[in-house]
Amino acid sequence: VKNSGGNHYSLFDAREKAKITQRLELEAEISTAIANKNFEVWYQPQINTLTHEVYGIECLLRWNHPTQGMIGPDLFIPIAEASGAIKELGSFVLETACKQLRQWRINNIFTGIMAINVSLRQFERNDLLAQVRETLIKEMIPGDAIELEVTESVFSEGNCHHSPILSAIRGLGVKVAIDDFGTGYSSLQRLKNMPIDNVKIDKCFVNRIVYSRKDEAIIQALILLSKTFNVSLIAEGVETKQQAKKLTKLGCFNQQGYFYSKPLPAEQFELWLTNYHKE
Ligand code: C2E
Ligand code: CA
Ligand code: CA
Ligand code: CA
Repeated sequence: VKNSGGNHYSLFDAREKAKITQRLELEAEISTAIANKNFEVWYQPQINTLTHEVYGIECLLRWNHPTQGMIGPDLFIPIAEASGAIKELGSFVLETACKQLRQWRINNIFTGIMAINVSLRQFERNDLLAQVRETLIKEMIPGDAIELEVTESVFSEGNCHHSPILSAIRGLGVKVAIDDFGTGYSSLQRLKNMPIDNVKIDKCFVNRIVYSRKDEAIIQALILLSKTFNVSLIAEGVETKQQAKKLTKLGCFNQQGYFYSKPLPAEQFELWLTNYHKE
């Protein structure tokens, strides 16, 4: 096609420009959106394949935008992290999740662990510990009913001052999970010293476990390590029955993924849970 080069560039520029504009707009809207209750927490079950029990739930944010529809966190979390609005959003998720958990505990709908994602930047507030403690007290939830999911970056060399904060939070009974394990830069050496209770194997390893001997070997190695280090292990991104079976056969019983359920809004999650127990 003749002259397509020039057009490509202008098309690219226009697309880039639209992206940047959207970014700036979303960034400016986050605070109002929290106030307007446009953010929602959705819930995804974590299953033990031996007992078939739903022992945990991960909280995942959604933005119900008035003009753009439902926006996923992969788009707005990086924006919120860059602008600092993640601190406000993080507080919203913690409060919403604990309020929901209290309700579910009272009605005997769910009494397991609520897992909440926490960004690196939330550690910049020196009140993360106080915030967690106060939320637990306010909602009358025992510490060991929640788990904070953090990424390896929280334990990187430049952030070594975050580990004592996590240790103090664990002092409340709260569990700490390392998210997306295996995708960051942390060495196994460092895993040894991390104040954590749970390792979440990233979905990229789970993806190909049925076909790739190498990914199978990685998961086998992690299962061994987790036993030695006395931490629990969960595989995320389980999408098929074959993956679920294979993981169970290897000894990885804690699983999460679309095969069981996609993340759902609170009401739908309750329905899913009721039907799951009937099966
Ligand atoms: P994550 O913490 O690793 O969460 C898992 C992501 O994988 C979620 O995407 C979930 O919907 C998706 N997922 C679950 N099962 C499957 C599966 O079987 N297959 C596939 N392909 N995907 C699956 P989601 O909800 O779009 O969230 C994306 C990321 O946004 C999260 O990754 C997390 O890093 C971040 N995020 C979400 N909610 C929050 C939050 O409340 N606070 C913070 N700081 N980050 C959040
Ligand atoms: Ca997570
Ligand atoms: Ca993850
Ligand atoms: Ca992730």
